[in-house]
Amino acid sequence: MALLEIENLSVNYGGVQAVRGLSLKVEEGEVVTLIGANGAGKTTTLRAVSRMLRPREGRIVFAGRDITRVAPDEAVRLGVAQSPEGRQVLARQSIQDNLELGAYTRRDMGEVRADIGRMYGRFPRLGERRNQLAGTLSGGEQQMLAIARALMSRPRLLLLDEPSLGLAPIIVREIFDIIGELNAGGTTILLVEQNARLAMQRSHRTYVLEAGQLTLEGDSARLVNDERVLHAYLGG
Ligand code: ATP
Repeated sequence: MALLEIENLSVNYGGVQAVRGLSLKVEEGEVVTLIGANGAGKTTTLRAVSRMLRPREGRIVFAGRDITRVAPDEAVRLGVAQSPEGRQVLARQSIQDNLELGAYTRRDMGEVRADIGRMYGRFPRLGERRNQLAGTLSGGEQQMLAIARALMSRPRLLLLDEPSLGLAPIIVREIFDIIGELNAGGTTILLVEQNARLAMQRSHRTYVLEAGQLTLEGDSARLVNDERVLHAYLGG
């Protein structure tokens, strides 16, 4: 059984059908990339999984459980966490406060504090600045904070929406290294990226979304050389 199964998902915004009949799977241990042009429905798909949006149709099954209608905090408790597009850290709160916020569904405060310590070990730049306001961080540091905040719920599935957006190439590599390390440590990842080539190089499988519908899917190593993907997304 896959860790995440999306079956025939449709999501509307009023009269706009943003996602139409989408089905995809993420197996435990995978990094799966979702690529597509602006407006293809990538963010909408992630937000349906994290339960921030209500699907019009379809089913979302996580770890064998139908989560299509659970509340967002219940999805977090069950093991789904999202790092949103644009990072959305709380600029006027400290790094420490942002991390505590990521643990809002947890009651084990001793363990939460220990996990914050582990985050500072993994992201030393956050540790050095723990009492600084998040809004004073660089874009790359804010992205690390957004990922660390999501990890504070100890997710089994991490949803990453455009983690490399607006970052310098060297920082983008760092973010992808972190994604690789998290995956090696056992976290399953569903990744939305504009940086299609790098995302495909660093993921197991890829789905291509066009105007709300899946058009291609397969092993990333194969799709990265596919004429249609090269032409549309890799500038080939
Ligand atoms: P991007 O890379 O630009 O974020 P995306 O693939 O993530 O694109 P979505 O953000 O999921 O695409 O948007 C899918 C479609 O739904 C687009 O046509 C978009 O204009 C529309 N849409 C997204 N959010 C809303 C909203 N809050 N209200 C109305 N329409 C929306």
